Amino acid sequence: MREFGLTGGIGSGKSTVSSLLADRGATIIDADAIVRRLQQPGELVFEAMVDRWGSNVLCDDGSLDRAAVGQIVFHDSSELDALNAIVHPAVAAETSRLVDAVKDTNAVVIHDIPLLVLPGGELMTSRDHQHWGGIIVVDTPEVLAIERVMASRGMEREAIVARMDAQASRSDRRNVADFVIDNSGDLDQLTAEVDRLWDWIGEAS
Ligand code: ADP
Repeated sequence: MREFGLTGGIGSGKSTVSSLLADRGATIIDADAIVRRLQQPGELVFEAMVDRWGSNVLCDDGSLDRAAVGQIVFHDSSELDALNAIVHPAVAAETSRLVDAVKDTNAVVIHDIPLLVLPGGELMTSRDHQHWGGIIVVDTPEVLAIERVMASRGMEREAIVARMDAQASRSDRRNVADFVIDNSGDLDQLTAEVDRLWDWIGEAS
């Protein structure tokens, strides 16, 4: 087994790259999907969040109200720390379980982690990146990323820009990259970039 990190800003095309890598046989471990799963009612992270914030973070149907959580942590760094202390260890444990399942195979494991690079360029500390074969960054001019997210998710430009401003910059991510995927072209060009990446992963073995 070999492990790599994959990251990119909102609208960079990271999910598209992830699925092109899955088509080529990579095992994708999707951090956001793990968080969503663990935030289902009855799951570990859900229970810990309700313990801390009570019914303030619940929708009428008993599911987690993500927008309410966002409101609580957005302006208060101690609440954000508390959220991270709940989420990160649980996600790390689930990730280890998924990695263990393929550790004796020749799988190429891709850790798809949107927030791997923190603002300023540090790496998220709760991940075992010392053992990875490299960090892959999907790099896209902001103007294109904004247009693509507006078209695909119907988000407002201001909301996308606010998200970008709160996250690592393009150069923060590029500075830690071992491989940069340029997604400034069309989807055919992105596919060619992923082929170039897949060759690089093969050579890195
Ligand atoms: P991310 O996961 O980084 O937020 P996505 O992979 O979901 O980004 O891409 C955002 C949107 O842009 C999707 O609708 C995707 O199909 C589209 N997209 C990604 N790359 C390109 C490209 N090179 N040309 C045109 N559309 C693209």
